[in-house]
Amino acid sequence: MPSRKFADGEVVMGRWPGSVLYYEVEVTHYDDVSHLYTVKYKDGTELALKESDIRSQSSFKHRKNQSSSSSPSRKSRSRSRSRSPGRPAKGRRRSSSQSREHKDDKKKIIPETTLALPVLVKPSENNTRRYNGEPDSTERNDKSCIILEQKLKPDLEKERVPEQYSLRSRKEEKKEEIYSEKKVFETKTFEKVSAKTKDLEFGGRIGTFLLIFFLPTTVLYLLLMCKQDDPSLMNFPPPLPALESLWESRVFGLYLLWFFLQALFYLLPIGKVVEGLPLSNGRKLQYRINGIYAFILTAAAIGTLLYFQFELHYLYDHFMQFAVSAAAFSMALSIYLYIRSLKAPEEELAPGGNSGYFIYDFFTGHELNPRMGSFDLKYFCELRPGLIGWVVINLAMLLAEMKIHNQSMPSLSMILVNSFQLLYVVDALWNEEAILTTMDITHDGFGFMLAFGDLVWVPFVYSLQAYYLVGHPNAISWPVAAAITTLNCIGYYIFRSANSQKNNFRRNPSDPKLAYLKFIPTATGKGLLVTGWWGFVRHPNYLGDIIMALAWSLPCGFNNILPYFYVIYFICLLVHREARDEHHCKQKYGLAWERYCQRVPYRIFPYIY
Ligand code: NDP
Repeated sequence: MPSRKFADGEVVMGRWPGSVLYYEVEVTHYDDVSHLYTVKYKDGTELALKESDIRSQSSFKHRKNQSSSSSPSRKSRSRSRSRSPGRPAKGRRRSSSQSREHKDDKKKIIPETTLALPVLVKPSENNTRRYNGEPDSTERNDKSCIILEQKLKPDLEKERVPEQYSLRSRKEEKKEEIYSEKKVFETKTFEKVSAKTKDLEFGGRIGTFLLIFFLPTTVLYLLLMCKQDDPSLMNFPPPLPALESLWESRVFGLYLLWFFLQALFYLLPIGKVVEGLPLSNGRKLQYRINGIYAFILTAAAIGTLLYFQFELHYLYDHFMQFAVSAAAFSMALSIYLYIRSLKAPEEELAPGGNSGYFIYDFFTGHELNPRMGSFDLKYFCELRPGLIGWVVINLAMLLAEMKIHNQSMPSLSMILVNSFQLLYVVDALWNEEAILTTMDITHDGFGFMLAFGDLVWVPFVYSLQAYYLVGHPNAISWPVAAAITTLNCIGYYIFRSANSQKNNFRRNPSDPKLAYLKFIPTATGKGLLVTGWWGFVRHPNYLGDIIMALAWSLPCGFNNILPYFYVIYFICLLVHREARDEHHCKQKYGLAWERYCQRVPYRIFPYIY
């Protein structure tokens, strides 16, 4: 293997991933192990590129002179469309009338465009055009630094990409032939673009090692505290139960039954199939959207059990054992996930979980989308066993409260907690598709963090308020209940509309319903919304979520801090998550992100943070 060809600081031409376009970049680093160069684009974006994706500037100047033949503008036009992974689906190309409409919208792109991308003139222009829907004929092949790879490599494959991921009609496919060809370039050029994770999160190797013990211990302590008559901090730590009392094979068997029942529901051929966002190799995975059906089937199954007098408060009586069973299962799953990830191709590894350090990759998740056939393990665990399980646990707590306190009706506090959280879960399942654009799916691998989070933390910690209320009833008046409900509705409204706005914009930036929104184009082809909720604060969805979290704790009263654990923890989680996301976005969008931050200075809480 020859040593590196380009030196640090050298200005070269780097291919924009997934495209045939080259930009002037500066080499900032070379990784001897992965043989990848870290290069910096002029808008500040940093990427890791293979040597074959980098060329000297001189070779370009030479070729450029030769390239005047055979309709360069046409080729440039067709190639330039292929660059952006965020390009609207082919089936959604605009009619000329739409194009005109969008052309008028062009003024809505705020002037930051040129400031944000002073050198990458072409990509920003191209993106602008894409979002504004200008017709093809208006595209020009300007004399920018962009060179067509085809002129350099005439032998580049042009075979047609298999259409198995296309959901478009045949008629549309024909019209779009010229664009189909370019999928080849995307597929070929994305290959093997993967790099080692350099920026370690969660305190790196030591932090993740400690978290593997800290998280289960926290769950155990929270549940033990909740069981105490006086769960105040003065009584911390709670007495530890005998080790053997934490495990019961029957409970573990029931947990497995639950998990595999949900897996069965997931496999049912009901609900639509949608594509996820493009992966680093240009491919898009397919996902079946049937979470809401799984929820309905589960509700029917639970209803049947209750009809036949099954005592659901069994869950309350064995709550700790269920939590331990779920923790054991999530640990076994994480080990399996790590072992199988060792055989996964390089380009299928998670960008954030490929450090090369066992403990770190085990925790954050080494493989991005582990699948068994079409069964996507991460996607399944994100929304099914834990989330639906949370609702079932809440219901069990409600029934346990009635039984223990000899009530014919659940308390108002219990009804509020159950209803608010039921709304949250049903919303997540109803909008299941939206999860495909979240960090968990697009960035984080599937490892201990998500396995434990989805299967243990969500069902057993998020149900803490209901669990607390069983042992520590709190009577509230109707006006207080109304005030808390209003707070929850405000939080939900912000949360839902912010998430929908971003999700719809990501899925179809040219959606006429979003025509009132302004955005900053970025070099990647995606826009950053600067009006609407995303112009209010940088993470409006987190704000709504936190307001709801507070509304879930308030019905428990103010006697103890324990039921407020959720809201305190959640603020910490989302502040940390926001910082992680900022970091990723800064890397992805460079200067455009900085312009966005200037324009929208607050991260989550307006005028505070
Ligand atoms: P978000 O849905 O907030 O997505 C962040 C991404 O949105 C960024 O990486 C960027 O991705 C895109 N983005 C950022 N700014 C803009 C902008 N101005 N315009 C357009 N796109 C933008 O991330 P999460 O996955 O963290 O959260 C999803 C939901 O899940 C939230 O409501 C959150 O509250 C909730 N959540 C709940 C948890 C719980 O335990 N209950 C835990 C974690 C999250 P790109 O540009 O690549 O599209």
